[in-house]
Amino acid sequence: MTQQQKDRSEHLLKVEELKKYYPVRGGFFRRKIGDVKAVDNISLELKRGETFGLVGESGCGKSTAGRTITRLFKPTEGKIFFEGKDITNLRGTQLRNLRQDIQMVFQDPYASLNPKMMVGSIVSEPLVNYGKGSESKLKDEVMNLLTRVGLPEDAYYKYPHEFSGGQRQRIGIARALALKPKLIVADEPVSALDVSVQSQVLNLLKELQDEFDLTLLFIAHDLSVVKHMSDRIGVMYLGNLVEVADADDLYKDPKHPYTQALISAIPQPDPRNKSERIILSGDVPSPQNPPVGCPFHPRCPQVMPECSGKKPQLKEVNKEHRVSCLLYE
Ligand code: SF4
Repeated sequence: MTQQQKDRSEHLLKVEELKKYYPVRGGFFRRKIGDVKAVDNISLELKRGETFGLVGESGCGKSTAGRTITRLFKPTEGKIFFEGKDITNLRGTQLRNLRQDIQMVFQDPYASLNPKMMVGSIVSEPLVNYGKGSESKLKDEVMNLLTRVGLPEDAYYKYPHEFSGGQRQRIGIARALALKPKLIVADEPVSALDVSVQSQVLNLLKELQDEFDLTLLFIAHDLSVVKHMSDRIGVMYLGNLVEVADADDLYKDPKHPYTQALISAIPQPDPRNKSERIILSGDVPSPQNPPVGCPFHPRCPQVMPECSGKKPQLKEVNKEHRVSCLLYE
């Protein structure tokens, strides 16, 4: 076995140079005139049992990355390995089988739950689709799942509109757990919820992770939420992964100027801990026409002349701490 094969099989998930582009068409013949580079060459790996937080402003490509990794979207280029097996081009039955191991929890629980179905049917649907469990056991299993995520048993006979946002997200979590997946990709799972219920849902996810032996890819725009959840964090900017580190390391010693700006914007609970907020100028450029060189250079407070000519690569600066910035090359 080569070192590369060994690396791939040691991680639950390994993503290599993944790209997801959307063609832009124009003119009378609707010819392709460019690409929206939603995900532009990212590589990352998820260790078994860890929570990896993927963070960045809205439109940075993190949700597209999540959906491409789970194979809801077809990658444009790159490779995805799950338990050492190349899943990049799986189709048909093989892709269907993969869905048992990789599930998603979505941002808007109401939009992702069929309003015409009772909760019992919503949660049991994956089990029925995959022929898991006998009819007599199915109901017990779903009841157990509903109780486990903190819903009353009579939720089984109710419809999604009869629940609050937090409860609906619990239903979404129960459904994602039904097939006992190995990986859950949670895409902004609490950003549509009231602040008062966010921490309850986050704590529930943490408890379930231990109990069900889950690996979590946790996608969010809010760095304080990601910190609460994650063992390691990847920061995305304009379709690129600009920094990856252990959660504590990233917060204590952010290397990339973009990460430094994001962290400086987190409100401090203790007003005596005053750190200067870094205000970024300008807006995030269009992923259809990203800047040449470092994608962050038009907004970077530490920009150097060479930043507009050379695109930095993600490189290790400390153990398990990788950054893509020419300041460190
Ligand atoms: Fe800033 Fe240059 Fe580093 Fe990009 S490469 S983040 S522009 S210093």
